Amino acid sequence: MPDRNAPAPDDPIRPARFIGSEIYRGSSYGGAHPLRIPRVSTVMDLARALGWLPSERYLTSPRAKPAALTVWHTQDYVAALQRAEAAQAVPDEVRLRHKLGTLSNPVYPEVFRRPATAAGGTIMAAALLRDGGRIYNPGGGTHHGMPDRANGFCYLNDPVLGILNLRHAGVRRIAYVDIDAHHCDGVVAAFGDDPEVLIVSTHEERRWPFTGRIDERGAGNVWNLPLPRGTHDGDMARARDEMILPRVADHRPEAIILQCGADAIEEDPLSRLSMSNNAHRAVLQGLMPLAPRLLVLGGGGYNPWSVGRLWTGIWATLAGEEIPDRLPPEAEAVLRRLSFDHLRLGRNPPEAWFTTLADPPREGAPGAGIRERLTLLKNRARAEV
Ligand SMILES: [Zn+2]
Repeated sequence: MPDRNAPAPDDPIRPARFIGSEIYRGSSYGGAHPLRIPRVSTVMDLARALGWLPSERYLTSPRAKPAALTVWHTQDYVAALQRAEAAQAVPDEVRLRHKLGTLSNPVYPEVFRRPATAAGGTIMAAALLRDGGRIYNPGGGTHHGMPDRANGFCYLNDPVLGILNLRHAGVRRIAYVDIDAHHCDGVVAAFGDDPEVLIVSTHEERRWPFTGRIDERGAGNVWNLPLPRGTHDGDMARARDEMILPRVADHRPEAIILQCGADAIEEDPLSRLSMSNNAHRAVLQGLMPLAPRLLVLGGGGYNPWSVGRLWTGIWATLAGEEIPDRLPPEAEAVLRRLSFDHLRLGRNPPEAWFTTLADPPREGAPGAGIRERLTLLKNRARAEV
């Protein structure tokens, strides 16, 4: 049932708000790391070029203080992260224990400040959402971070900190929905045994971190739909209508967090799923009426055009803006300024990556096993009533 208190997308009293920061501009994990590309700065530039980010909707993300991070992360780890940034290097024992200075989790110039800013944004959003509303923090969504170590490009786990801070604001029943191509192992580590936190995840099967099997249930609050290679919009629409939305509605959440990783779409170089960016907006649209508080986060996404276009489209849906068929010249210029040294994807980007925000839909025959998996999950839901 739609929540009558859910704010409309264009609610004049509680307009959707965007949390951003200039720290993301020009920041890179370095070398050949997938996160050498710009992402949040593209979204800010595109949204401004489209006139969708007036100053009253934009909030500058504060940087979380260590004390705000140690509500879940260990003091030793947070201190090690700060020292890594100051020294731009880590001793071997820190690399071994905290997984800092590895290929996945390199020491880069803003290695503490950038994740602490993303976390600060999510923590601020949780406090602002006490009285309801919709907030977007595209720099957040670092769902692999662990209490004592970095994991999968994630140094801090802002979704976990967001849930803890919603709790602090008196919000008990929370639904966390994660449509990143990778499973949210860090969030499950924190809340897999907490019946008040629903965790619904779709992710590519047989892909790192290799958790999130369909039979993992946590305390009955965990629902996983592993997706086969080639999963497209039609499959995701089934997953949305038969799993994501019914599970969230049954939970009757006071708040929803959507992790909107952009790596499940066709042109992402790290995964083998085949959605268009319409799939993500359709999930968001379905979730919007289901709770009076909604926090949308970013996540993965390793093709600079895909990420910028998808996450700007998410803001359009959240803020009640209409996506034009063709971008105005100022917005097109933002996308034309991007470059990507990935051999196949960067050499000849299709014209539509410069001139449009919404992809053409990608439909097809149902992916192998999707129907059977959804039936299995539906039967489990029925048995638990
Ligand atoms: Zn991912």
